Amino acid sequence: MIYADNAATTKVSHRVLEAMLPYWEEYYGNPSSLYEFGQKAKEALEDARERIAKCMGCEAREITFTSGGSEADNQAIRTAAAIGAEAGRKHILSTAFEHHAVLHTLEALRKEGYEITLLDVHENGIITPEQVAEAIRPDTCLVTVMYANNEIGTIQPIGQIGAICRERGVLFHTDAVQAVGHIPVDVREQNIDMLSLSAHKFHGPKGVGVLYARKGIRLGSVIYGGAQERGKRAGTENVPAIVGMAVALEEACGRLAQDTETVRKLRDQLIDGLGRIPYSELNGDREHRLPGNVNYCFEGIEGESLLLLLDDKGICASSGSACTSGSLDPSHVLLAIGRPHEVAHGSLRLTINEETTEADVDYMIQAVSDVVDYLRNMSPFWRDLVEGKRSHVFAP
Ligand SMILES: *Cc1c(COP(=O)(O)O)cnc(C)c1O
Repeated sequence: MIYADNAATTKVSHRVLEAMLPYWEEYYGNPSSLYEFGQKAKEALEDARERIAKCMGCEAREITFTSGGSEADNQAIRTAAAIGAEAGRKHILSTAFEHHAVLHTLEALRKEGYEITLLDVHENGIITPEQVAEAIRPDTCLVTVMYANNEIGTIQPIGQIGAICRERGVLFHTDAVQAVGHIPVDVREQNIDMLSLSAHKFHGPKGVGVLYARKGIRLGSVIYGGAQERGKRAGTENVPAIVGMAVALEEACGRLAQDTETVRKLRDQLIDGLGRIPYSELNGDREHRLPGNVNYCFEGIEGESLLLLLDDKGICASSGSACTSGSLDPSHVLLAIGRPHEVAHGSLRLTINEETTEADVDYMIQAVSDVVDYLRNMSPFWRDLVEGKRSHVFAP
């Protein structure tokens, strides 16, 4: 099997697994307990916080543990919204291609009386700092722009956007779930006020993440209960997962430069190989993209048929198409970069990593080419294109 869906989730690394085990079987005490045994768990928790802070270039007290990226996004946005409301500022600026954890939180806030502006995304899948600068208003309380897009892998000019927000006195949050552990991130240098990350996107366990909030920003709770996480996030901490997340982050950041180079090279081979399929186009900028992300649209095919046939050939991939996402509309990301509906339905995302080999890449190119050919030959829609009854969207 070739696993090429690392943007969806990743395998827990062996070292991560080993580091977690004792905290289930031996040091399973509750970190809030006062006895020595619970204090062992507490120490592990604070040690993990220190180590994560170091990787992020911030202080330990700026790290709050959450159940993952979605919760961190919710809490960051809700915090900024509440701070804004106190000052009579109820406008939030974001983009049309955010993750649903951000978009749906914003949608909820819209119903609660906030005004939301979603910036259009350029065809290359990138938001410019100028767009942000122009759209900030006196009543803007938050700018939230994702660091790297989870579907098309495009990397945003976060440092420049951060600088603009700092200058204009607006809180800046970034959903960096796809970025952390894959490309360099520095919250200080990039003027990031709040940042979300999730362990399972960099070989850590699922169900655990971090909300970084610059000191001075008082996080509001989204989960009420006990006084864990200095009263900012109730619920007994998932100690084994948090320990695992710290190890995974250290591993990922330690290998960043070397992994980036190997993975990017394979990614480019994959991009070039799939580009030889007629009537296909890469989604998102080729240069400013995550090292492991390949995302194509193919004319005349349905994404989910493509995925099923690739599954038969032992390839785990993903698509922004209708049925897989449980909705009739194609991916909001592909629509945001201007892909017409009929093309957006025929998309394929392959997200590789440092374990992918050159043989895997060759195999994927061949398999995708064969399957696209096969599906097109069966499609009445494709016949119309060939016979000139419809016009092509892409060049041959
Ligand atoms: C995966 C992902 C999330 C959600 O993270 P979870 O830990 O699965 O809740 C949020 N944003 C982006 C960009 C993601 O890729």
